[in-house]
Formats: sequence, structure tokens, C-alpha cells
Amino acid sequence: MNLKNFPSPSAASTRLSPGVRQINGILTVRNFIGGAWVDVDSPETLPVMNPSYGMEIARVPLSDRRNVDSAVNSARMAFEDWSATPVKERAQIFFRYKALLEKNLDELSALVHEENGKTMDEARAEIEKAIELSEFSSSMPQLIPGEILEVSRGVECRIDRVPVGVVASITPFNFPSMVPHWTIPNTLVLGNTMILKPSQVVPLSSLRIAELLAEAGLPPGVFNIIHGGRETVEALCDHPGIDAVTFVGSTAVAKAVYVRATGSLKRALCLGGAKNHLIVLPDAHEEMSATNIAASMTGCAGQRCMAASALIAVGQVDRMVKRLCESVRAIVPGKNLGAVISREAKERIERFITEAEQAGATILVDGRGVVVPGKENGFYVGPTVIDHVRPDMAIAKEEVFGPVLAIMRAEDIDQALAIQRSSRYGNAASVFTQDGGLARYVAERASAGMIGVNIGVPVPREPFSFGGWNESKFGVGDITGKSSIEFFTKLKKTTVKWNPEARKNWMS
Ligand code: NAD
Repeated sequence: MNLKNFPSPSAASTRLSPGVRQINGILTVRNFIGGAWVDVDSPETLPVMNPSYGMEIARVPLSDRRNVDSAVNSARMAFEDWSATPVKERAQIFFRYKALLEKNLDELSALVHEENGKTMDEARAEIEKAIELSEFSSSMPQLIPGEILEVSRGVECRIDRVPVGVVASITPFNFPSMVPHWTIPNTLVLGNTMILKPSQVVPLSSLRIAELLAEAGLPPGVFNIIHGGRETVEALCDHPGIDAVTFVGSTAVAKAVYVRATGSLKRALCLGGAKNHLIVLPDAHEEMSATNIAASMTGCAGQRCMAASALIAVGQVDRMVKRLCESVRAIVPGKNLGAVISREAKERIERFITEAEQAGATILVDGRGVVVPGKENGFYVGPTVIDHVRPDMAIAKEEVFGPVLAIMRAEDIDQALAIQRSSRYGNAASVFTQDGGLARYVAERASAGMIGVNIGVPVPREPFSFGGWNESKFGVGDITGKSSIEFFTKLKKTTVKWNPEARKNWMS
């Protein structure tokens, strides 16, 4: 792409140097290895698009096994010094890094907006979440002190948390900055070194992350970036120099990565796709529920693994549904609704809607065929509400990943719970009611890792941890918050005796 014709008003990616190489006006992103930017000698590159305009803004190379080798060597070499650095010193770097994220908030948000297509407000919220994640990591010195006890006369046992080693983190397109921050701060403050493999669809935000980490004082080699797709990920899973793999993305790939990484004897934590149900009871607060549900289904154009995707209306809730449709109609593509990630995504989402219509569902709000003036090539889908969806329809069962809500009808709470519990996923489930007892009944029985009561997007905030159940997550523990400490550390148990005069017993 010729930079002179750059279509986006922000043109944030033009400031990316030196994480990109420019040849004849075409930006190609580079790997970040051992604290240096490295060109990838790849015969194949993929386009990075600006989804709001449907225009190519850069190219991303596909790293091979040799590139992965050099990233692993760099991370292994840095591990010795970094893991021996006291945790309080490591945390200091993340105090400085958090301040740098705050200082560069506008630029980082523009970059997310540009490569992902979400609105500027949503992009800003994503960076604010990255700031919160960095802040949490700075509290590790308070969270990980070990234990010590005299277990026999003169004999002490102590337990220390030590880093696992080199961690590979593989991330999806829908949060180019927040999801990498699910792992970067905690992994590094806990003393590991890491290799980030960002989504090849949104590789630009990670380049600024690397620059700001270096500016905050992170030593070379502690954090590395390697760009690529399936083969790059497989090389990371197979590499004997990597100790742990985290993955966030679709369920099919999460399963494959979990099997491959654990098959080569690494610990792995792989988060997959989702289908989140909202159970709406007749006593739900109309205004609060309608605006909350509309925001949940349309935020980030429905491309959130916590987005409302299915609404189960219990009993007589027609007034609520009418009020919801009014809220949804006020959400306008190109204004307060961003683009979806690609032309293929737009076509897939619209196909789901058409198939539901053909199967007998009623389209209450139709977002197909949207064109945004001035952004005619952008990948926009308008907000869509579909009523009288049956639980056996594809739109009721599959992850649509667009601003689409499928409404199913249930006669009572148990029927609604049966629909929710039959899902193969289990990220989030919410109930909307003013009755505490009914809310508790649903919360206790829903089969999901994150439950909302009158909350459309029940993402736990730090120090609470993020992670679903069923086919929304493979592996033990959660990826953020206090639960992540278990995954990113291992325990060293030391038994000590210095005093030969201590009375003997079976352990002396
Ligand atoms: P994706 O699975 O296509 O890609 C995720 C990562 O895997 C990318 O880095 C990609 O390069 C790599 N990859 C793709 N195909 C691969 C293959 N065959 N083998 C190995 N690696 C491969 O996911 P996406 O489209 O980028 O992201 C959207 C999905 O992510 C949705 O399903 C969404 O629900 C999910 N997601 C889940 C969570 C969660 O917390 N559970 C959070 C965010 C996104």
C-alpha cells in the first residue's frame, strides 16, 4: 500500500518504525528478538487490513522453525538473569510500564482502532484494561511470598514460587492489546521470559508493546515477538526449549494447541470460543436490562468471547424485547458500532442470519447489507435481533462472533437452564431479574465459568481471574488474576537443618 494514499484519519501505523520495514511504501512487520527488530525472510506474507475501510495497511510475514529457534534461544539466554532478579525489582519495571501505557493511551487506542476496526471508545477501554492488568502484576511481591515451618526439631521446610521458564503466548484478533496483556505482565513479573505470537490479523499493537516494555527498562530477550500463523504456532508447541504455552482463540484451534503442547510435555492453558446465554425473567428491570443487553451484544461488533449471543426469554417478556429492539436500533454502524474483522467474517455472520430466517425464525432488527457512507468498503454488519429461534438451529448453537442476538423462548427457569447447560461452551452466562433467590438459583446451576446477575458482560476484574468452562477452556486454572500465579510458577520445596546438636528423630 502506498502510504500517501493511507485512508485512515489516524494513520497510527505510520509511526510504527522501527517495528516495521518500509519498502516502496509497503510496511512489513518485523519480529522482535533479543531486544532487536529482525526482518523475517519469508517467501509468503499476509495482508493486515484496516477493517473500517477494507484497505490493506501492512504485510505480516510467516515465521518458520528457524525463526522460532532464534526467539527461543533469546528467551532462554535471558531467563538466567531475569529469573534471578528479585521480584520487587521486576515489579518496578511494570510500575514504569503502566505509566508509559497511560502516557501513550491515545496513540495505542488509535492503533487498535485502526487494525481491528472497533470504535475509538472501545479501543480506549481495551488499553485501560491493559493498564489495569499491568497494575495488578505490580502487586506480585505482596501475593507470592513463600512459606516456612519448623517441621521437626531443628528442621525447616520452606516453599518458594519460582518461574516455569520460557512461556509462549498465542493470541487472537479481537483484542490486539488486552489479550496479550492477560499474559505479559504476570508472566514476566513472576520471572519467566516469553515469546508472544500475536494474531497475524492484528500484529501492529504488539510492536508498540515491545517498544514501551524496553523503554520501561525490560532487559533484552525477556520479551520477544514472533509473527506468523499455524506453522509458527506448531513450531512453538513442539519446541523443547519452551516450558509453557498459553493460547486464546477459537475452540478448534485451542483443542489442537492444547493436545500438541501437552503432547510435547509442556504445561498448557488454552482458552477457546464461546456462546453466552442471558436468561431474562419477567421481573427484569426493563430499562437497565435492555440497555445492558444491547451493549453486550453489539460491543466490539459482537466480537467478544463474553458477548451476549443468545437470550432466553422466560415467560412473558415481550415488553422487554420491544424495549431491547429500541436500544439496538439506536446503535449505528460506523458511529457507535465498529466494523467486523474481515469480509469473510461479514459474509459468515450474514449467512447465519439468513439461515435462521429460512429455518423459521423472525428477524426483528436486520443488520444485513449495511453500507457506511465514506467507508463503503468497510466490513460492517448492523446490529441484529432474531426472535423465535429454536435451540436446534445453528444460530442457537454455534459461535456467530458478530452483533447478533438470537432469542429463544422458555416456559420456566428450568427449561431456560436446560438450554444454557446443553451448550458445548461455558464462558459466561447471565440472569436478569430483581429477585435475589431466582438469581442465585440460576447462578448455581448455569454451566459457565463466569456468571452475571444483571450484567451483560460479566468479566471479572483484577484480582479476580478470567476463564471459562467446558469447551471454552482447556487446562487447569485461569489465565489472569490470582489464579494465574499457579500456572506461571512452580513450587520449590527446601528442607534444611544446620544444627547437629538438635535431638534426633525420624527426620533428623
Ligand atoms: P483463531 O483460533 O483463528 O486464532 C487464534 C490464534 O491461533 C492466532 O494467533 C492464529 O494465528 C493461531 N492459529 C489460527 N489457526 C491455527 C491453527 N490451525 N493452528 C495453530 N494456530 C492457529 O481465533 P481468532 O479468529 O483470532 O479469534 C476469535 C476467537 O477467539 C473466537 O472464537 C473467540 O471466542 C475466541 N476468544 C476467546 C477468548 C476467551 O477468553 N475464551 C478471548 C478472546 C477470543
